[in-house]
Amino acid sequence: MQRSAFWSKVLVLSLLLSTVTPTLSSHLDLAHATVNNQLNPTPSSQPMKYTQAERKELFERISLLSGIPWTYLAAVDQYEKTMNAVRKRKTVHLGMTNIEFSESAWVGVLNPDPQDTNLKSVAFFHGLGRDGSGDGMADRTNDLDVLATMAAILSKNGTRIENLHINLWQYYQNARSVDRIRQFAAIYESLGTLEANEHAFPLPISADYSYRSTWGDSRGWGGHRTHEGTDLFAHYGVPVRSTCYGIVEIKGWNPYGGWRIGIRDLNNIYHYYAHLSGFQKNIKINDIVKPGQTLGWVGSSGYGKPGTSGKFPPHLHFGLYRDNGSTEWSYDPYPSLRRWEREDRIKNK
Ligand SMILES: [Zn+2]
Repeated sequence: MQRSAFWSKVLVLSLLLSTVTPTLSSHLDLAHATVNNQLNPTPSSQPMKYTQAERKELFERISLLSGIPWTYLAAVDQYEKTMNAVRKRKTVHLGMTNIEFSESAWVGVLNPDPQDTNLKSVAFFHGLGRDGSGDGMADRTNDLDVLATMAAILSKNGTRIENLHINLWQYYQNARSVDRIRQFAAIYESLGTLEANEHAFPLPISADYSYRSTWGDSRGWGGHRTHEGTDLFAHYGVPVRSTCYGIVEIKGWNPYGGWRIGIRDLNNIYHYYAHLSGFQKNIKINDIVKPGQTLGWVGSSGYGKPGTSGKFPPHLHFGLYRDNGSTEWSYDPYPSLRRWEREDRIKNK
């Protein structure tokens, strides 16, 4: 799509939002009111909450105008949310978007006015800031302006999928970021919703199993040096189930983990399952999985060449890893396991 065509359509966005979507536009008015309240803080100022359905609707509208699939807009937004969480970054936004631009990126590095909202001078200084709300200003604290700006970045060299990936790479300068956003978009595409926060315990709670907190132990079963997970002991053949909505990132043999599978969820958490006796037929890399879906079965594979098995008692090694955009680190899955187990008990009642 041509740039000018895109921007004439962005203007239509504000009309659409004010006429077709009364709920959303009333939220937007309130959002502006809240921004003003934050400038003059009063004890009663409360951040607005948006439902996931409202947020999806907004992504779909911007998609219609920009040609970028809503799944990619949602994926970039979600990726930024996970990065804000690991960097413990507070945003100025009010719940519709998690994307935030720095002042200098927004107004242009050489712009003498870091709060500039004038479209002409922002463009003159090569600032990224755009107007998506239709008020003629580029306001980096306005959710619609921020989303319109991201849409412009994503459509820079065209909106076909391969171009999108190039645009993403140019913006983030990081192949991992592009991978994550591609994965998140695939999950949204398959689920058709932003609501995917449910979890499940990795074993059926009706099965015979036992586990305790063993994360960080100097020695785990199956040759892990520092134990980056929790061992759940169970009989051979007990189903191993996905703990989350996610995408299969890794599947196959690893000398320590044996037959193992790794799932990436929408919080950018990597769920790792090792020592399986085998995989559910047909499951492959890039498949989208749901909580409770069978991935494979408990076994004792690992600690040797492909197919090695029986060097330790059968168990599921379960690990969780966080990602800050450049590195990944293990954290204790035990509290999550206890929570998912409790939740499954309630569901099964
Ligand atoms: Zn283990």
